[in-house]
Amino acid sequence: MTVELICVGTELLMGNIVNTNAAFMAERCAVLGLDCFYQTVVGDNEERLSETIKQAVGRSDIVILSGGLGPTEDDLTKETAAKVMGKDLVMDEKAWKHITSYFEKRGLELTENNRKQALVPAGSMVLYNKNGTAPGIIMEDEKCRIILLPGPPIELKYLWQEKVEEYLKSLSGDVLVSEMVKICGSGESKVETVLKDLIDAQSNPTIATYAKTGEVDVRVTAKGNDEKECKKLLKPVVKEIKKRFGSKIFTTDENVTLEMAVMQILNENKMTLTTAESITGGMIASRLINVPGASDVIKVGFVTYSNKAKRKYLGVKRSTLDKFGAVSEQCAKEMAKGGAAAAKSDVCVAITGIAGPGGETADKEIGLTYIAVSVAGKIKVKEYRFEGSREKIRTTATTSALTLLRHCLLENLTEKTFGE
Ligand code: ATP
Repeated sequence: MTVELICVGTELLMGNIVNTNAAFMAERCAVLGLDCFYQTVVGDNEERLSETIKQAVGRSDIVILSGGLGPTEDDLTKETAAKVMGKDLVMDEKAWKHITSYFEKRGLELTENNRKQALVPAGSMVLYNKNGTAPGIIMEDEKCRIILLPGPPIELKYLWQEKVEEYLKSLSGDVLVSEMVKICGSGESKVETVLKDLIDAQSNPTIATYAKTGEVDVRVTAKGNDEKECKKLLKPVVKEIKKRFGSKIFTTDENVTLEMAVMQILNENKMTLTTAESITGGMIASRLINVPGASDVIKVGFVTYSNKAKRKYLGVKRSTLDKFGAVSEQCAKEMAKGGAAAAKSDVCVAITGIAGPGGETADKEIGLTYIAVSVAGKIKVKEYRFEGSREKIRTTATTSALTLLRHCLLENLTEKTFGE
């Protein structure tokens, strides 16, 4: 079955906003085993939109549109799509009720053009939208199916996860089940090399790798008649990947992040944590604090950017800074030791490095970073050489710190040594 995506909005065409809806929908379609051969971005122009929809309907089984369902004059996706399908717009009382209560709850005044959002093509399925006012819509005829979704990503994702995905699954006879193996501490090319034979020989299940900053996700997807059959197909492949990457795999659950995996270890072992950050300026603490329940674990988050702060709050010795500099193994170690002592925590992760574009010296280039982890008084420190922009270096450094922290915690708990 083929799917085609059309994202509507002049601001997308002008580059004012990034088309994250297309990326999200395309990825989900791939997971569902739907072939997506075309994606189009079209501005808020009735003629061009109509032309685009007609072309899509003529060559794809399912056409999904995002954006242009708002109440204003330039929102014309629904009107144009209904015209192409030869359907009239009729008032949907339930949608109208939802819109009025949405406005009432927020103390907002309804305007006449809000009624436009409760109009739906006759005979269509209406996808009521908890996160906004514009409902999603599914229209069907013998030749094609058109799905209309609102532009704001939070609304689109909600409707997709709650309604659209189930609808798309019901269209294809096959059941698809996938597992996401998430790997930290190995780059994408390394992961692909290690899995090359499996990737080359893949048919069912399929194997796809996705590189993220400092993390690689491997999606294994099986197609079958039912869930049981899919799981049976998945099992040996996932087992083999686990065997090859061992402790570098931090989860096989799509919804679990690296910071969640770290917090889980700390929580389960009733360990407290302190962060002592220089180059990342609080990014490690921020990612960990995103995980619910962080208050039981995180004692203090130090952002010690200046040498003075490193000495004052973490007790880094002046002689260490003079002799080795702030970006050094010795300084990272003292930051980890001092952070744990200052906050009386079981664990401290410390980081110091050069994010650039300035700050490079003859013997210390941009990207040079030291990460130290102290677990119950035992300190491990590692040198890294990150590349890219200031933002990329800081983001990769944050993920690497979480990776090293996780490895040190596992080493401490199992008394085994893991390679990162
Ligand atoms: P609304 O009811 O809020 O008017 P709408 O369905 O009319 O929603 P648009 O007006 O097209 O949607 O877009 C609303 C906002 O949603 C945009 O300003 C933008 O922030 C976001 N948005 C729209 N399309 C996309 C897209 N393809 N990718 C990411 N964000 C998008």
